Amino acid sequence: MTADIIDGKAFALGLRERVGKQAAAFTARTGRQPGLAVVLVGDDPASSVYVRSKGKATAAAGMQGFEHRLPAATSQADLIALVDTLNADPAVDGILVQLPLPGHIDERAIITRIDPDKDVDGFHPVNAGRLATGLDGFVPCTPLGCLMLLRHQLGDLSGKEAVVVGRSNIVGKPMAALLVKESCTVTVAHSRTHDLAGVIHRADIVVAAVGVPRLVKGEWIKPGAVVIDVGINRTEDGLVGDVDFDGAVSHTAAITPVPGGVGPMTIACLMRNTLVSACRREGVAYDA
Ligand code: NDP
Repeated sequence: MTADIIDGKAFALGLRERVGKQAAAFTARTGRQPGLAVVLVGDDPASSVYVRSKGKATAAAGMQGFEHRLPAATSQADLIALVDTLNADPAVDGILVQLPLPGHIDERAIITRIDPDKDVDGFHPVNAGRLATGLDGFVPCTPLGCLMLLRHQLGDLSGKEAVVVGRSNIVGKPMAALLVKESCTVTVAHSRTHDLAGVIHRADIVVAAVGVPRLVKGEWIKPGAVVIDVGINRTEDGLVGDVDFDGAVSHTAAITPVPGGVGPMTIACLMRNTLVSACRREGVAYDA
């Protein structure tokens, strides 16, 4: 069997182009650009790279970026004050506070302070609740990107057996909620799961979001399944996913590579969520 290699990079580029066109139409109509505020506390090198690429993507999509780089010693009170200012700023449609935050700041206190209607990362419990109950809100960017790739690959997902490995609030849980919404039969596996190989072998769709290099072996995968590998693990061999790509590729109908699979979708979906927020706030229709 020869697997399709799902080209997340190309799909993300297409999505960013569509978002860019709609952002231009939004600006022509409202006289202002959609605005995304990104807050970075401290100088963690990986976070700094993420913030820079989010800034570039924002500009490329014809949106206005507001970058706030604060020193690592910033107090929780000062960070909350900044979030309050951004919540009240009419030019800001989306607010993203780059995680992780320095240890002296309570991440939950910051995330819950963001106006849920500007929470384009979709991490606020109100948005998690909206997703779980089928209301419009913001869906975290990485699982949203995974869903777009799955829909593109498979079309209708209803009735499919899906296994999500990982139950984090930012990937695993929202991914499972999205797949339930698509009428899949969903199993969520995690570190306490007995017989992970057997659970995965049932699946038509496998989403791996674990953070353990090449945990999921090729022979665990049901022939013909579609595999989405969220993992980004730095190893001596470079970046690898949570799935043993070389072992899995002959078992699957389609699989995302690492890098070049899910990764580029995350920023594209952040642009999409920011556009959606701007359109909702101005009562403009959108289709991205
Ligand atoms: P977390 O560490 O928050 O969650 C990992 C999950 O995997 C947990 O639910 C954990 O179970 C489970 N797990 C750990 N070990 C095993 C195991 N041996 N067997 C089964 N389950 C296991 O990670 P994230 O969800 O934040 O990220 C997951 C991966 O995705 C990482 O590699 C991360 O770098 C990547 N990532 C990629 C993004 C992208 O843009 N492409 C964005 C976000 C993340 P338990 O709950 O029991 O501890």
